[in-house]
Amino acid sequence: MLSLRNVDIKFVKGVGPRRADILAKELGIRTAYDLLRHYPTSYVDRSRFYSVRELRGADLEHLPALQIRGRFVSSNVLGEGARMRLVALFSDGTSTLEVTWFKGIKSMRKMLDPEKTYVLFGKVTSFNGKLQMVHPEMEDSAKSMTSQGTRGVYPLTEGLRKANIGSKVLYTIAYNILGEGKETRRLADPLPESVLRSRGLMHISDAIREVHFPTSPEKLQQARFRLKFEELFYIQTDMLMRSQSRKAKSAGLPMPHIGEWFNRFYSTCLPFELTGAQKRVIKEIRADIIGPRQMSRLVQGDVGSGKTLVALMSMLLAIDNGYQAALLAPTEILSTQHYHTIRELAARVGLNVRLLTGSTRARERAEIHRGLEDGSIHILVGTHAILEDKVQFARLGFAVIDEQHRFGVAQRARLWSKGPDGFAPHILVMTATPIPRTLAMTVYGDLDVSVIDELPPGRKPVSTVLRFDQQRTQVYRAMGAQLRQGRQVYIVYPLIEENEKLDLKSLEEGYESICEIFKDYRVAFVHGKMKPAEKDHQMDLFARGDARIMVATTVIEVGVNVPNATTMIIENAERFGLSQLHQLRGRVGRGADKSYCVLMSRYNISGDTRKRLDVMTSTTDGFVIAEADMQFRGPGDIEGTMQSGLPFELKIASLAQDGQIIALARATAEELLSSDPGLRAPQNADLARAIREICKRRADWSQIS
Ligand code: ADP
Ligand code: MG
Repeated sequence: MLSLRNVDIKFVKGVGPRRADILAKELGIRTAYDLLRHYPTSYVDRSRFYSVRELRGADLEHLPALQIRGRFVSSNVLGEGARMRLVALFSDGTSTLEVTWFKGIKSMRKMLDPEKTYVLFGKVTSFNGKLQMVHPEMEDSAKSMTSQGTRGVYPLTEGLRKANIGSKVLYTIAYNILGEGKETRRLADPLPESVLRSRGLMHISDAIREVHFPTSPEKLQQARFRLKFEELFYIQTDMLMRSQSRKAKSAGLPMPHIGEWFNRFYSTCLPFELTGAQKRVIKEIRADIIGPRQMSRLVQGDVGSGKTLVALMSMLLAIDNGYQAALLAPTEILSTQHYHTIRELAARVGLNVRLLTGSTRARERAEIHRGLEDGSIHILVGTHAILEDKVQFARLGFAVIDEQHRFGVAQRARLWSKGPDGFAPHILVMTATPIPRTLAMTVYGDLDVSVIDELPPGRKPVSTVLRFDQQRTQVYRAMGAQLRQGRQVYIVYPLIEENEKLDLKSLEEGYESICEIFKDYRVAFVHGKMKPAEKDHQMDLFARGDARIMVATTVIEVGVNVPNATTMIIENAERFGLSQLHQLRGRVGRGADKSYCVLMSRYNISGDTRKRLDVMTSTTDGFVIAEADMQFRGPGDIEGTMQSGLPFELKIASLAQDGQIIALARATAEELLSSDPGLRAPQNADLARAIREICKRRADWSQIS
């Protein structure tokens, strides 16, 4: 049997060297098999023909692309230069419409044959009272093999469109590979027989045929299910295998003792009772580090759930066993803040805590280097500066990474190499990004996950309202009342890079007008373009309470902790993503006082935007918000950051919408690997090969987290 993997796409009928080059360049399609794996993303109904007459007076805007059959009555080239176009009159016997081409005028004109019946497919619009189609797909009706039933719409690139390779071309090529009379060309299924059977999945050959040429909606549904499952199953199997191999291979630093530091802190210095969730997660971490394996654990906890304390207590365990600990945060502001929190807590037990960032002076830096090397520094807090080669620890045993999505993969690998005698330190990754469970399963599939699913007691949910520009006076009045009660206020502006100049301008204007309106109060001002030292100074003013108002961009999004701040006003709230609004809002409501978040927006926001903001006003649950965010925008932001954690780009499955299939794929992978951990059984050989092939572009995660 000729394997389609070995058939160069250029030799497939309808392709040739020119198109082959473009397919390779635009879509990475090199073989017939690759082309079959380029699936349609949607389908159009080609089962019926419309008559031109019924289109007159129809609600064209709401009709999808559709097909008509008839002849060209006449054609004329109109206009000149850039406005030149070919306009042909098309009649189907019931009425006529105009068909217009702006490109390929000459060849199209030559091609139009008044003797022939054509099938046109496209969107019909009304222009100056005339029905028209622009650049329709066109086929000779006599030769049309494709004008029946459901037809796929393929994802295209600009380059493909320029080369006139549209859905129809891709469809025809697929047809030429798989078409009638070629049924015998069955593909070998990479999924093991046992998986196909137990999950009732369609065979790969049928699935590929159906996804390109659906024979019924049910079959198409089954085909898509199978192909989605396949992608997600590769990812889950890959993740699980990596995690297994990491656990088997990576010898860790055993930390069996609970000692003085931990106990003293727990019994005398803990400023409050730990929540049940905090206790549970600390136990999970302890269970990991007692043993002989290296820990890689993700702690997920909504904003304000108290991750810092969990990190600190875990570090104390490491110190009790004679190791040093490090805490990395993505920004100068955040690490400085962590440093203050941790030093304040840890100073009571006499631990030596130091801060290292890009702006640490040379003299102090040298001193820190020495302290790390001779082991006298117990905890180092800092930014990327910690990762520099010059920074060497005597015995780094435990590293915490806060808000990990801002750290690159390579940077984490460097942390790995800083442990003693070639041992990797235990790694604890903390994130507040509320990743829906299924997404976490996929993206962090090879990390162990702990969840802090409880907020410290006494937190009152932040009450959130949506206000429009003309209500600004009332908003400022309420803000004034908070200030008079001694509270502090954040005012947040968007700053998007594409819009940078405009945004900076409105930020500065906002700052000036706030200074003007609230003359009695000092106003701090922070944005990402400032020098770190100035930023810190401004943050400090606010943290100490000298400045009562903080005007800022989203640089304050993560981690900033000023419990006395009770009000946040977010300008142009409609420009932020939901998850980002949630992070921002997490900056208030951190103390005992009732807190408020005001989403400011232009008056005329559209339906979906309004609904998005309504989610914010109706819930404070980070997971609910993350799910809603994914529904509104697709996985958007979250997927953007998370996709980079995937071993390959998903073609058909969606992290946002296929949660159930993800769970099924996960369970199936677990089952399969429990009976054949290394996929060494002959019946799983094809699967192992397929996974190796498709996941090859990925760095070796076992060396990373
Ligand atoms: P996040 O998880 O967002 O990083 P933090 O660690 O900054 O949260 O904690 C948020 C606030 O809650 C801090 O002011 C912290 O001191 C306080 N906190 C943490 N744990 C508890 C607890 N068990 N009881 C009361 N307050 C707590
Ligand atoms: Mg935090």
